[in-house]
Amino acid sequence: MNRDWLEKDFYAVLGVNQDSSTEEIKKAYKKLARENHPDLNPDDKEAEKRFKDISEASSVLTDVNKRQEYDQVRAMGASGFSGFSGGTNFNVEDLGDIFGNFGDIFGFGGTSRRKGQSYQTNINVSFNDSASGLDTNVPLRKEVVCEDCRGNGSENGNSYHVCNICKGSGQTASNQGFFSFSQPCQACRGQGNVIDKQCKRCRANGFVIKNETIKVKVPAGVDNGTVIRLRGYGGPGSGGGPDGDLLVQVNVEPHKFFKRNGSDLILEIPLLFTEAALGTVIKIPTLDGSVTLKVPSGTASGKTFKIRGEGIKPQGRRAGDLYVKTTIVAPTNLSRSAKKHLEKYKEQFESGDSPRDYLYE
Ligand SMILES: [Zn+2]
Ligand SMILES: [Zn+2]
Repeated sequence: MNRDWLEKDFYAVLGVNQDSSTEEIKKAYKKLARENHPDLNPDDKEAEKRFKDISEASSVLTDVNKRQEYDQVRAMGASGFSGFSGGTNFNVEDLGDIFGNFGDIFGFGGTSRRKGQSYQTNINVSFNDSASGLDTNVPLRKEVVCEDCRGNGSENGNSYHVCNICKGSGQTASNQGFFSFSQPCQACRGQGNVIDKQCKRCRANGFVIKNETIKVKVPAGVDNGTVIRLRGYGGPGSGGGPDGDLLVQVNVEPHKFFKRNGSDLILEIPLLFTEAALGTVIKIPTLDGSVTLKVPSGTASGKTFKIRGEGIKPQGRRAGDLYVKTTIVAPTNLSRSAKKHLEKYKEQFESGDSPRDYLYE
């Protein structure tokens, strides 16, 4: 273990990534070593340094044990030492002061109790269904503990023996410089037990993929983007931890003419200029029927009428209101005769005052 591992990105040096196999790393090393070899680059100090760097990177990353240590050290560095829950325990007295005291975070000795992974999915819901609420089914591919082996991966759950390398602890100790690592035992992959005969059903994974259909209750009034959390429908927990959650994001399709603002609905309606001038009664559609709106004579364009209680009715909360906003539309292709009538009206009944007079006062 070297202190400077924290600063060195061996993967970047070799142009590989954390998932690369040892073979891939060796190949990358060979190529770079050829390019930067001192014999081919005499008196090139930079090539010499690169050659040293790639040699160091390769010596760590092609050694399974060293690579594992390196990854763990880097994982701690990247996460600022918090929330780390890898398989390595450290002896705190050997750490010196460079990492400070993080004994509490690691939870020495015990296997960590962890909640299962959360799964995410989306459902599309029509505007009307989002308003009224609905029960729907969501297909889900879920990891579940294998029933045949009860999760231990051996045939019938009993075809295993205690690991004789680590005597069942799952850990082996090794000293590296001032660090004393106890590493996950390689022989049993930290499990403490070695499987004699693999479970056929899960091929020793301990879990199987199950296709399930989950009933999701979408509450009335759910808005676009709302996430419904279904506890316990995510991935299996470990170390006795609870299963994860299923997060269902609701995408609400837009309505043909209603717009939503919180629990209120907004509806724009066009009014003929004669209707606006003379007044009228119109039928206004609502989410669950219709209401009658009396438009008084002399209604201006943009006038908004509030219809109380006809907005979204969210489950357990006060219903919103429906706002009806008017736009006045003028006829675009008047007949000669209609034009004459309007001109006559203008001459006879308009006083000559303009609604824009205030602009010129
Ligand atoms: Zn199994
Ligand atoms: Zn072992």
